[in-house]
Amino acid sequence: APGILWLTRDFRLHDNPALQAAIADGPLLPVFIIDRLTMTQGAASRWRLMRALQSLDATLRQRTGGKGITILRGEADEILPPLMKRLGVRRLHQSDWPTSEMRTLQGRMRAALRPAGAELVLHPGHLLVHPRAIRTGNGGAYRVYSPFARAVRQLGPDRPAADAPRRITACTEPLQGLDPLKLDLAPDLHRGRAALEQFAPPAGEGAALARLDDFLDRASAYPGGRDRPDLDATSGLSDHLAVGEISPRVVWARAMLRAEVSPEHAAGIGKFLSEVIWRDFSWHLLIEFPQMPVACCRPEWEGFPWRKDAPELIGWQRAETGVALVDAGLRQMWLTGRMHNRVRMVVASWLTKHLLIDWRAGLAHFADCLTDWDPAANAMNWQWVAGCGPNAAPYFRIFNPERRAEQYDPQGDYRRRWLAGFDGASCPEAEVWLQSIPPAWNRGPWLPGPPSMLAKGRNAALAALAQFRAT
Ligand code: FAD
Repeated sequence: APGILWLTRDFRLHDNPALQAAIADGPLLPVFIIDRLTMTQGAASRWRLMRALQSLDATLRQRTGGKGITILRGEADEILPPLMKRLGVRRLHQSDWPTSEMRTLQGRMRAALRPAGAELVLHPGHLLVHPRAIRTGNGGAYRVYSPFARAVRQLGPDRPAADAPRRITACTEPLQGLDPLKLDLAPDLHRGRAALEQFAPPAGEGAALARLDDFLDRASAYPGGRDRPDLDATSGLSDHLAVGEISPRVVWARAMLRAEVSPEHAAGIGKFLSEVIWRDFSWHLLIEFPQMPVACCRPEWEGFPWRKDAPELIGWQRAETGVALVDAGLRQMWLTGRMHNRVRMVVASWLTKHLLIDWRAGLAHFADCLTDWDPAANAMNWQWVAGCGPNAAPYFRIFNPERRAEQYDPQGDYRRRWLAGFDGASCPEAEVWLQSIPPAWNRGPWLPGPPSMLAKGRNAALAALAQFRAT
């Protein structure tokens, strides 16, 4: 019988225990299903997922002599159990991706497989360590990053699995009754944004591993440069990690090896790995608070009078706040699917503190626009900035975008790059913005808002927060 791999977010051949297990079961049948969960994720991340799918499909074809991924449309728990029954398959392999929506789907899958005595087997690989392996002294989950990070370093990440073999035997049995989609005919996944094509860095696991090596060669510049959106000092791996084109355990293992042989990079690599642990921490929190993307982890914050349908939300989404660093970040994200981490913080702080708009509206816009969208990282960071997360910034911490711009973008290069009109900018990237937005958004060159709005927003936010704390 064939070995079935249910692909969800693990588009790679290296360190992929689910793939290894499927290969061990029999001739490989890798399946990707365009289901409700896929179609309800944001446009940019769906587009990015398509590129990951294309890339893995091409690599698999090379290894199998022509057989790629079978793409089907529908609900996995309705399609796969009858297929498995027909083919006499007893195990369905999947890399675990522990969101609450996936848990529900896995539950339905198990129920559908049970009557035929078949099972769903979940495999690790998405994280450095199993989120439940790290517990506090009294068995609970960590709510604070530093002790969590210490525990991860002490325990050490799980060792990567072996790479998939050079030659893979593919399943050639006919899939009666099913109508697989051709990769380039899976149109719903394509409905991205034209600008993303223009700015996209290469996708696929080869590109991801090369990017990691390239970053490790310049890791000594990371601690000094990582807060600077005008420089290219960070790894740029988040897109690849989000779709599983690179395994975090391989990132860890290669980085540790590099720190050993190139001690000049050791400090930079140490800092970089702390960030990779933040990613694990966000999943640790998501498992503890499955509602993290939709509800405040500190429930008292549900009582905060967030503005829900403020007209300023549209201005923020359209990058028309009049604050240069905020608008530059929002335009970078719209056009490229990415935004520098520091700028994400400032942009999120502007929405939740200066405009007092519900953090969930910001989270949703990010989820639609980011190619590195990750449900855990996005939710943890939004709650951190808004002040309602378990590990949140203090309420009075309100980023001053002008001061941050001086600090992070001292020559204004980042802002000039993305804002047509800022400081006489005429960069090609800034012009692409005007071409890519819907006509209704086009207000011509970017214009700053009145200087008083900074102080006004800050004072209003502090007053609202102080009043909330008093009640
Ligand atoms: P590097 O600096 O090279 O870091 C290496 C890796 O560490 C990253 O690829 C990422 O996997 C992880 N990492 C770094 N910072 C964080 C962090 N603060 N939280 C969790 N993991 C981190 N990151 C996402 O991957 N997806 C998201 O949807 C996302 N949403 C965010 C929303 C807000 C409001 C904020 C403030 C941050 C968000 N981040 C998100 C975290 C961070 O901005 C990105 O991971 C980072 O900018 C990616 O760039 P890089 O790969 O070059 O990072």
